[in-house]
Amino acid sequence: MTTTSEKVKCLIVGGGPAGYTAAIYTSRANLQTVLYEGLQPGGQLTTTTDVENFPGYPKGVSGTEMMMEIREQAGRFGADIRFGSVTKANLDKRPFVITIDDKHTIEAETLIIATGATAKYLGLPSEEKYRGQGVSACATCDGFFYKGQDVAIVGGGDTACEEAIYLSNICRKVYMIVRRNVLRASQAMQNRVLKAQNIEILWEHQTKEILGSTNGVTGALLTNKAGEEKTIDIQGFFLAIGHTPNSGLFTPAVKTDELGYICTKPGTAYTNVPGVFAAGDVQDSQYRQAITAAASGCIAAKDAEFFLNEQ
Ligand code: NDP
Repeated sequence: MTTTSEKVKCLIVGGGPAGYTAAIYTSRANLQTVLYEGLQPGGQLTTTTDVENFPGYPKGVSGTEMMMEIREQAGRFGADIRFGSVTKANLDKRPFVITIDDKHTIEAETLIIATGATAKYLGLPSEEKYRGQGVSACATCDGFFYKGQDVAIVGGGDTACEEAIYLSNICRKVYMIVRRNVLRASQAMQNRVLKAQNIEILWEHQTKEILGSTNGVTGALLTNKAGEEKTIDIQGFFLAIGHTPNSGLFTPAVKTDELGYICTKPGTAYTNVPGVFAAGDVQDSQYRQAITAAASGCIAAKDAEFFLNEQ
């Protein structure tokens, strides 16, 4: 296999609000910037519906549209935005050697990790079996396929509520499978779910198995707190039970907490490796908002700039 190589001042990995915002700042600061977007340009926001809480959009904006605008803004200042994924990262010494798609290496003086987080699954074999055939972790991506049908969504957080509401506008009936007797979601989200006529919350229920045929999902076998079993007839099974940070490629060189979130020096984007910075959901288990991701992207860019100036 032929490999190619190049040198850059700042390499940003991740095409979400953190990565693109970092690219706006680093390219405006004239740090020759290359950004790799990974498999999902725009990041998780492209799987959401309207973003109503990002300042500057009084009427709301679609997640995809907002991300494409931030991307365009970064490109306007010269950031070289590319499609590709990191397959290896050697962070032993600077310049760091980062391999893209196993065939291109980049020697980077600074690295900003903004790889975000990935949806979690329950870990059932039947979930794996029917993934893409009725099982999905993105209602806004796949909900349309279940128009007029019955579906279930697992989780009780803001994502589950938001996606249940989204599905309720497309599907005939939406079961929300909630493991406790309360929702974790914000009160405003809870109210919207409770108001929807076609959402039924199955409190204190867990999924034992997803049922299906050669055509995909046909139902789910649930158990309640008392151990009683119940079957629901559904064609779509959605997961909204949280996320795992995409930090694995950079560990153990870069330190993470026990959940895999990259540890940064409080109030900064500095990791334990000088010259490596982290921004967005890969280092934030708490806020995980577009606006906080964007802000941390700005911090990472400023820190990278200060770092290079000090060298
Ligand atoms: P959360 O971690 O907030 O919620 C996860 C939900 O899934 C919880 O109800 C949890 O139950 C449940 N859960 C976790 N594991 C399992 C399991 N194995 N089986 C069954 N249920 C399980 O994740 P979200 O993705 O909902 O939200 C992440 C962050 O993003 C939050 O800070 C949220 O506020 C924010 N957000 C904001 C939005 C907005 O403002 N528009 C929209 C979406 C997200 P339990 O409660 O029992 O732990």
